[in-house]
Amino acid sequence: MTYSIFAGTMADMTYQQVEEAAAQQLPVLFPIAVIEEHGPHLPLATDTYIAHQMCMSAKRGLAVLGQPSVVAPPLYWGINRATSGFAGSFTVRPQTMIDVLLDALACLNAWGFAHVFVLNFHGDPARNTAIVATVKRAYEEWGIGVFFPVPPWLGREGLGLTGDEPYLLVEPPSPQPRPTPPPPARFPGHPCGWVGDEADA
Ligand SMILES: [Zn+2]
Repeated sequence: MTYSIFAGTMADMTYQQVEEAAAQQLPVLFPIAVIEEHGPHLPLATDTYIAHQMCMSAKRGLAVLGQPSVVAPPLYWGINRATSGFAGSFTVRPQTMIDVLLDALACLNAWGFAHVFVLNFHGDPARNTAIVATVKRAYEEWGIGVFFPVPPWLGREGLGLTGDEPYLLVEPPSPQPRPTPPPPARFPGHPCGWVGDEADA
């Protein structure tokens, strides 16, 4: 199989392999996203594919560092207010996503996994607020070792975060501002105004 969001994840493992991974205390990378409209040129599952690939990429990076890990099957039923008006954009009630995510984390914890990293790829503010609340509850009330890397583009202020929450992995502020790339060269006669490989033709 070459085209599957289950490829390389726990869903393609046997239960004995999952038991062994838990016994070894391997970290779990948990991709979560939604299925939603992405314009006329992309499939609905774009976010889910990206979340899956984020975890697979992290798994490869950890392996290079000598740290094996496992990837959970993607969770793609979630809060999606941003594009829910389009056909094909699934959304669920906030409590539904919270309950499913919390129960999935509880399962991983019950099997013996002590470190779960939730990697989200969908920027809906209501969704991210719910993810933070769910991770906070799982960590503080259920004793689950779950962590949510907060993407830099998400920001902390809107979610009411301080950055000191133990269940959040917040990218520290950059000590130096990133250099601004030079503006691209312009070609006045080209409708896009860009000079690229195609424009040279
Ligand atoms: Zn999205």
